[in-house]
Formats: sequence, C-alpha cells, structure tokens
Amino acid sequence: MSAENILEALDPEQREVALSLDGPVCVLAGAGTGKTRAITHRIAYGVATGRLNPRHVLAVTFTAKAAAEMRSRLRDLGVPAVQARTFHAAALRQLRHFWPRVVGGPLPQLLPQKYPAVAEACSRLHLSVDRAALRDILSEIEWARVSMLTPESYPEAAARTRRPGVAGFESRSIARIMTSYEEVKRERSLLDFEDVLLHMVGFLAERPDVAREVREQYRHFVVDEYQDVSPLQHDLLRLWVGERRDLCVVGDAAQTIYTFAGARASYLLDFPREMRGATVIRLERNYRSTPQIVRLANTVLDGARGRTRETRLTLVSQRDDGPAPLIESYPDDLAEAQGVAERIHELLQEGRSAADVAVLFRTNAQSEAVEEALTGRGIGYLVRGGDRFFERQEVRRALLTLRAATAVESEDPSHTVRDTLGQLGWSAEPPAGTGAQRERWDSLNALVNLSDTVLARPGATLTDLVRELEERAEAQSAPTVDGVTLASVHAAKGLEWPVVFVIGASEGLMPISMAQTPAEVEEERRLFYVALTRAKDVLTVSWAAARTPGARSSRKPSRFLDGVIERPEPRSPQPRRSGRRGATLLDTCRVCGEMLAEPRDQRRGRHAGCPSPADPALLEGLRAWRRERSRENAAPAYTVLTDATLEAIAERDPSTDEQLLAVPGVGTAKRDRYGEDILAILARHRS
Ligand code: ATP
Ligand code: MG
Repeated sequence: MSAENILEALDPEQREVALSLDGPVCVLAGAGTGKTRAITHRIAYGVATGRLNPRHVLAVTFTAKAAAEMRSRLRDLGVPAVQARTFHAAALRQLRHFWPRVVGGPLPQLLPQKYPAVAEACSRLHLSVDRAALRDILSEIEWARVSMLTPESYPEAAARTRRPGVAGFESRSIARIMTSYEEVKRERSLLDFEDVLLHMVGFLAERPDVAREVREQYRHFVVDEYQDVSPLQHDLLRLWVGERRDLCVVGDAAQTIYTFAGARASYLLDFPREMRGATVIRLERNYRSTPQIVRLANTVLDGARGRTRETRLTLVSQRDDGPAPLIESYPDDLAEAQGVAERIHELLQEGRSAADVAVLFRTNAQSEAVEEALTGRGIGYLVRGGDRFFERQEVRRALLTLRAATAVESEDPSHTVRDTLGQLGWSAEPPAGTGAQRERWDSLNALVNLSDTVLARPGATLTDLVRELEERAEAQSAPTVDGVTLASVHAAKGLEWPVVFVIGASEGLMPISMAQTPAEVEEERRLFYVALTRAKDVLTVSWAAARTPGARSSRKPSRFLDGVIERPEPRSPQPRRSGRRGATLLDTCRVCGEMLAEPRDQRRGRHAGCPSPADPALLEGLRAWRRERSRENAAPAYTVLTDATLEAIAERDPSTDEQLLAVPGVGTAKRDRYGEDILAILARHRS
C-alpha cells in the first residue's frame, strides 16, 4: 500500500495520529473511533515513507486475541514484519533470550496453573481454604504483584486503597501467603505469569547490556488499550523505551475494566504530564455503530460519576440509521437463554452468518445456559477467552503430535497438518450428528483452519506453525470456528460484531453483586459501556427477573438502564412466568431524532412537545371509524382505542398484521377485533 493510500483511509484526526511520527503521542478516544485503525495505519505509514524500520517497531496490547487482530491488520496493510504482541508474550520472548546470560541455564518452567502452588502455600501455613477462597487469594496476590507490592508493603497499600477483605483474611495473612507462595515457586524453580514481567523489569533495570540490546532492537513503541496498563506493565514499558521518546499510546478511559486487576487509567490520562511535549489527539467520530447504538452507549455514560464522567468523550456516529436497540426482559435465566437462541436462530434463517453474532455476559458462568440453548437448536458457537479450546484433550494431543512432526521439516506443511490431524480423527467432511465426536472434529477442524491461515504467510514452516500454536495455547486464545461467539465482556474488549446480545443486564449481574463501592460500580458501568459498543448494527440487551424457573422474581433491571427504560417500582406486578415479556423499544424521537428517556414518550415514539408527524386527514379518518365502533359497542370511544394509540397508528402507518401488533396499545385482542378495519383504512389512505 502506498503512503498516500494509507492516509486516505483515515479521517483528519486519525491522519494526525499517523503523521505524528516524532515524539510521544497520546490518543484519547471513545469506543469504535478507530484507535486501533489509527495506530496500525501510523505504523504502516511510517514504514511506507521509510521513517520506521518495521524490525524496530513493537506494537503492544493486552490479550492474545487483540495482538492477533493487530497482526492481521498490519499484514493487510503490507507490514507483516512488525511485531505485535501482548506485554506477556513480548517479555517472555526476551526473558527466554536473556535468562541463560543473566541467570544461567535454561528458563525455568512456567507454572501452567497457579492453584496448586497457592494451595500448597496455604497448607504450609496450616490454613484451610476452599477453592473459591483460593481463587480470591490468588487474584489478590496477582493484584499485589502487578501493583509492584511486596509482602512487606502489601498490608499498608491494601489499607490505603481500601481493598475489600479477601476470603475473610486480614491483609497480614495474605502477606504471609504471598511469602509462602514465593517459597513454593522457588523450591520447585517455577515461574508464573507475573514473574516473567518482574524478571524482565529486573534485568532491564540492573543490566545495562540487556537494556542496550533490547533498546537497540526496539526503537518505536505503540500501545493499544493503554487505559488498562498496570504499574508493572508501565515500568516494563518505560524500561523498554529508555531515553527515547518514540512512544504512542491510545486508549479510552471510559473503557477501563481491569482496575480490580491493577490497571490504572491515570497512566493514560496523565501521559502528557509524564511525557512532556506529547502530542494529544482526540477522536470522537464513531465508525463502528449506528446512531441508535451510539446514543444508548452515550446515555449509559451520562450516568457516570467521578473521573469517568470528567474525562468522558461523547461519541458521534458516522453511520446511517439502524434499528433501535431492543431491551428485553425474561422471567428467568433459562428463558433468557432460550429467547436469545431463538432470535439467533431467526437471524441465521434470514441469512446472517453465525460469525456475525456475539452473546456477551458479565461472568463466564452465564455462558452455560446459552451454550445449551444454542446446542439445542443446532447452532455452533465458540467460547471466547478460548481457555476451553486449548484445554481440550484433542487439541493438546494434536499440538504434541504436531510438535513431534517438526523433527522432519516438511516440504508441504499444510499436507502434513492434515495428515497428522487425520490420525487423530480429523477428516475433510464433518462426521454426522452432534455429540463428543463432532465436538472433537470441530476443534481439530478449527486447528486445520488456523494452520492454513498461519501457513499462508510467505515462507512459513511447520516449526513456525507449531510455535505460533504454542504461543496461542499459552495465551489461551482459541481460533475462530464459524459459530456464534460467546464471550465475557472482558474478553470482548476491542472486538466488534454486526449483531450483539448483551445478557444479564440486571442488578446483581451488571453491576455484579460484588461491586459495592462507588468506584467498583463505576467500573461495572464501564464494562456495560464496553459491551454495548461492540455492536455494529443490531443490539439487544436483556435481563431476567429470576435465576431459575419458578423462583421468586426478585431481580430488577440494571441501574445502568435508568433513563433508558422504565424501572419497575418495588411493588409493581411481577413478570409473567412464561415466555418473553414485552420488549421495550429503545426508540428515538421520530420528529427530532433525540433519545426518548420518558417511558410515555417511548410509547408515543416522540417527545410530547414534538408535533405529531401523522397526516391529519388520516387521523380524522381513524377517529371517524372509532366513533362508529364506539356507537356499535355502546361504549366510550377510548375503550375501542385510546387517542395515543390512534395517533401512534397514524404515525407508524403499519401495513401488516405484525407491524400493527408492534404499535404500543395494540394487543392481540384489539388486533383480532379491529385489525382488519384499521389496515383497510390505512391502505385506502395510502392509495
Ligand atoms: P475500541 O475502543 O472498541 O477498541 P477502536 O477505537 O480501536 O475501538 P477500531 O476497531 O479501530 O476502533 O475501529 C472501529 C471500526 O470502525 C472498524 O471496523 C474500523 O475499520 C472502522 N473505522 C475506523 N476508522 C474509520 C474510517 N476513517 N473510515 C472508515 N471506517 C473506519
Ligand atoms: Mg481498539
């Protein structure tokens, strides 16, 4: 791609990002405004103009999926040689390289699972903890370490930041477990995820030769999703950059969703202070989503407090109008999962590709019901976050077998892959039916597809392939099979789909019940914002009044929907026990185009003060018909249809039974009784 072509694909602000190749750059921008696009184009433009040597560029992000996305965008722009990695993968590569020189011997084994080591650490202290408590302790240790705390400094820091109590332990006990955990790892000579970064920070800080070599290799840095950087990652980055100033960071403070794990948006917001003379560029044009979706996302942020509010950017959609987001309520989680699966089924029947659709949720446990509902309808899906995929036995075995096959370098790696996986049960055609056999085939086939993609790169060998697969396995990222994506909101960050379902939008799930402090609730709001802004065209948000069928309907819709839908008063009637409850159309005013916050206005489809766009003659015709019917019924006119309903019919001008039913105020009874009459009046008026 020529330099000119690259710039042409950008809007003026994005172009400024690409053109700012000297000195530090900070891009503050909302969701879907083209941050990732701007930085990948910046790299491509720098390479195309000869100002950047692709071998000296390091693009960093947080998840393996995001890194893969960056690599594929860079490849499309003609700069495949640029390294795009996660912090962890980049640090691990460097640590492998330098370990023999700095410490001696090969790099110790990486801890595949921290649980056993933490469990042992606890038992050495004669503490009995269950698995859930272990998980909390583990997260706390991780937080402490990415926050650069030691067992000595942890208790004070925990008190200062008012960390909630962990599994009923005092901070001093947590500090003792931390020490014990370090001992377990040392004795077994094992490294964990954080050790990789911590050691690399140590090497860079203490060994001038290491720092020199790394800085010789990487001279230009770009970091995506910078709002989620932790103190440890920040330190590592500063050591990578050294005295140079060639650092470009992009992020959105309203998408900070890893605070609980040590992320600090302040690194992004304070970047201009940290790097004096930095160019700051703001992007507000949203290219991803329809105006209807953007409006909903903006409304959710309107309710934000604290720094999220102060630093928020208002998105302006650049797209044509699309359908209004739908807010749906269900009696229970199962009904919700079934309802979502049913809608997806309809979409697929209409010709949508399953890969266009994502179902997003707050916690992974919520996925199971959806998985089951989809399986029940024969709809394929993949679980994003990918831990499942590379954990599958057949995938593990396939990787081992492929690794063994690299002993002889193959002339036709793609054939070797098919051959090798064929021995494990892969075939060109899927086996009939569903069940375990089909699942195994799906996994192996995904592996074949993934291999094809990797091997399509010029000169790629079987060894390259296996290395990439192992890297992915390490980062627990699954390749995409052609199915509906199920993902936690955390795993969906930075990604986009034409159709998105956000489930579990109720108090207790979103915000999650664990979020108690205002800061924690704000993080949940940002999560919700991230979820909504993944959608390009069609967005459905749903919530369920109870967890299990028949249980008490105690849940309420999420507070983040305040101003969007009517929240029932505590004593309001409970939702019906079966089927989908009335869907609330999250509409915009038909006249002025602004959001309709009042439920009454939503029913009317326009603000009370905005003039009705209905044809007065049509309205009069409908009123005359109503008078007649009311005489026939010997009952007041409003018992036939209310004024508001008549107006809504005239405004929406439905031409089918279904459209008529969608008009607020028209139920099946009214439809059966008056539908034919009304549609006839409308048709006459039209002609
Ligand atoms: P997020 O905050 O979710 O990570 P982002 O700011 O990184 O979003 P991108 O993923 O880069 O946004 O872009 C969002 C979508 O908009 C992509 O499909 C991208 O191709 C498209 N897009 C961005 N900029 C432009 C543009 N100038 N012209 C056309 N399409 C664009
Ligand atoms: Mg992005």
